[in-house]
Amino acid sequence: MSIEKFSLETVLSVHRWTDTLFSFTLTRPAHFKFTAGQFARIGLKVGEELVVRAYSIVSSPYDETLEFFSIVVPDGAFTSNLQHLKVGDELYLEKIPYGFLTLARYQLPLPKDLWLLATGTGLAPFLSMLQDFETWSKYQHIHLVYSVRTRAELAYVNRIQEIAQTFGEGHSGFKFVPVITRDATADLHERLPRLIENGALEQVVGMSFDPNSSHIMLCGNPEMVEDTKEALKRRGLSMNRRGEGNIAVENYW
Ligand code: NAP
Repeated sequence: MSIEKFSLETVLSVHRWTDTLFSFTLTRPAHFKFTAGQFARIGLKVGEELVVRAYSIVSSPYDETLEFFSIVVPDGAFTSNLQHLKVGDELYLEKIPYGFLTLARYQLPLPKDLWLLATGTGLAPFLSMLQDFETWSKYQHIHLVYSVRTRAELAYVNRIQEIAQTFGEGHSGFKFVPVITRDATADLHERLPRLIENGALEQVVGMSFDPNSSHIMLCGNPEMVEDTKEALKRRGLSMNRRGEGNIAVENYW
């Protein structure tokens, strides 16, 4: 990995949600342009080696800093070092962004209903999209569905409300739907594919998936992405390819 592809950025803040979930912000170099939904590649020196991982960007494309949402992977070479991150530390940031989980990929159907389905840190790209006014002006309905294991892992809830108030001012079609899979007392506690199959998700939102008007994005646990994609296909929705179709996905690891 050539170090010239990276710029060295400074950690501006670190926020710990749980023992294994944290967010951090970095300085943003002027050359680093991205579209909401894309990811960055971040590098960390482990001994002499530069270890690099992909991280979806939480920030909006218009923010002056770059925010990321991370999990500590047990025994992971990268995150077990990253979890000790503190303000003033430096990280390597690859100069170009990556990824195609962006709203620009949709041509047909035309934008009407947007479903953003995330597990865990897969929430990140959707927070970026929701901090872009264009998202709110394009869609009549936006449903953000966020599945975590425990209530403590439900990060960013207050920020989601703030974002909806700021960016979605005057927009009446936004719904935030938390799913807590290991808490039987939660309103929704089954996994996403099951909530699609039994109709519970559509019932809570008050709308149906529609092949003629729904754009559906999935991000997070690769098994969730696979199982949810299949559940949606059984409902008549199609994968988005070359601009056409409903479902766009990003595996998170
Ligand atoms: P997770 O296990 O991905 O769980 C988050 C949510 O996804 C939970 O509600 C979980 O439900 C649900 N889920 C899991 N599998 C599913 C499936 N097949 N269909 C539908 N929903 C599903 O939790 P996490 O904390 O984000 O990540 C867990 C593990 O992933 C960590 O231990 C970590 O080692 C590994 N990992 C994560 C990353 C990353 O970047 N996020 C990278 C590398 C490795 P249940 O409660 O029913 O399981």
